[in-house]
Amino acid sequence: MSALPSMSGKDDATGLKAYDVVVVGAGFAGMYMLHRLRGQGLKARVYEQGGDVGGTWYWNRYPGARCDVESMQYSYSFSDELQQEWNWSERYAPQPEILKYANHVADRFNLRGDIQLNTRVDRAVFDEDTNTWAVATSDGKTVTAKFVVLATGCLSNARVPDIRGLKDFRGEVYHTGHWPHESVDFTGLRVGVIGTGSSAIQSVPVIAQQARHLTVFQRTPNFSIPAWNAELTAEEREAFRKNYPEIRRFAREEARNGIYAELPDRGALDDGDNARRAKYEQRWEKGGLTFMLAYNNLILDKAANDTAADFVRDKIAEIVKDPETAKLLQPDNHPIGSKRICVDTEYYATFNRPNVTLVDIRASGIEAILPNAVRTGAKDYEIDALVLATGFDAMTGSVARIDIRGRGEKTLNQKWAEGPKTYLGLMSEGFPNLFIVTGPGSPSVLSNMIVSIEQHVDWITDCLSWMRGRGFGTMEASKEAEDKWVAHVNEVAQLTLYPQANSWYMGANIPGKPRIFMPYIGGVGVYRRICDDVAAKGYEGFAMTAKERAQAAVAS
Ligand code: NAP
Repeated sequence: MSALPSMSGKDDATGLKAYDVVVVGAGFAGMYMLHRLRGQGLKARVYEQGGDVGGTWYWNRYPGARCDVESMQYSYSFSDELQQEWNWSERYAPQPEILKYANHVADRFNLRGDIQLNTRVDRAVFDEDTNTWAVATSDGKTVTAKFVVLATGCLSNARVPDIRGLKDFRGEVYHTGHWPHESVDFTGLRVGVIGTGSSAIQSVPVIAQQARHLTVFQRTPNFSIPAWNAELTAEEREAFRKNYPEIRRFAREEARNGIYAELPDRGALDDGDNARRAKYEQRWEKGGLTFMLAYNNLILDKAANDTAADFVRDKIAEIVKDPETAKLLQPDNHPIGSKRICVDTEYYATFNRPNVTLVDIRASGIEAILPNAVRTGAKDYEIDALVLATGFDAMTGSVARIDIRGRGEKTLNQKWAEGPKTYLGLMSEGFPNLFIVTGPGSPSVLSNMIVSIEQHVDWITDCLSWMRGRGFGTMEASKEAEDKWVAHVNEVAQLTLYPQANSWYMGANIPGKPRIFMPYIGGVGVYRRICDDVAAKGYEGFAMTAKERAQAAVAS
């Protein structure tokens, strides 16, 4: 296999340790990237700020944390041995099991030697004379690399809202996205949860079982579909394993969201009321994210969407006994699916428990946190512990925390001040040899993340091999290609109902963040074909510079 000339981690002329590639993050993206780079004979170094591998699954260890994609599918496909030998225990694996899987992968593929834990990448500066990146880390060291790959994750920068008095609270404050590693016991405590997104919807039922009293502060209700989680039988696992070639192919090429599932062949308004209700009932009974696949126009046509939203609102009213609470839990300000659908176990039913209270803060917000209470609507709710299930600075947050400087010392944050700009979500013009895995402008969070991660990592690896084969040393997205892609991403999003919601997809959960629909909505199959086509045309839209030419330019 061809490879870039490896610098084998030796010191370069500046005396700094030199790598072919620095990878930021050792989650599922960073680990697979390292595996593929090694396969090319490249010397790579992975920096991970966490104390172990696993990325989002290292940090998100709140009670009830699970993946919302079924585990037989939320798993790597690059190694058939791996997918045949690993035994997922449940339909939706709990976080500890996903983390165990990540650790298993690190050991099985012998990755740990090139992963430096507990080390944040603080700064990456492109040197236009040498066409290398200088990467500074939190241990005070600087290394150089020909390429940098940001495998920083889309939902890894936990967001603590700016609420008055938060720091004066006397009890413990937890964030679902940054949960402590030691066990947290709420037994006998009055607990407050702020937020009602996926993380709250998973944790509320579990916390309610422990806490003396649980008060949930809700600003916006969300649609949630039951997971119907259960243990996987040996037969179920075997059925997947036997059919993995087709399941994985379908997920990559045909499913828009990277999940193998029965696809709809008609729109919601093509069926009469009874048939439609039966279809929704069937999808509800199946459970999970694929509820939105009941019909093919649910995210395109508001009238169609309303039928699905009404169905779920009716379900909420059936489950929740107190009509006032049921009403508050019924989402009414966004189309179903325009925010990520939640997948739960007994979320709505939890509000029937005598020790759980739902507080509507839509009008007043949280006015203040007092040393022993949450104040809202001029009323104080006494609590002993507070859980912030307040989400993430999604998609760009983790990238923005790194001081990245490209050509002319321009920072990526300056360039993205009005919203992220990328070509294919993979590269940003002005930042040569800097790749982003599942970056904004790619399907990423609208898909089974592992499908999208594998596609990006494979594409990047093939690209590096292609460059080496032709003597290219530098690659950069062209402004024209990037502008066209950004416009296309926006244009496609506007054809759907997604922009109608104040979602983190739109950056709407972060005050001051530009309102731009960040992921690419065209579907993983379409997107893969576009990326493959770009590669087949000699990486159309990317400027490649030959190593010799770059060196000659430096010399003159
Ligand atoms: P989220 O969906 O952004 O939800 C955050 C919640 O906090 C919202 O209800 C939000 O209300 C509320 N909130 C934020 N700031 C607030 C404030 N100042 N005062 C009151 N309420 C406030 O975050 P998340 O639940 O962590 O989920 C984020 C994403 O992570 C999910 O969409 C999903 O993609 C992923 N995730 C996946 C899983 C899984 O695989 N099962 C589990 C958890 C998370 P507003 O809506 O009114 O802003």
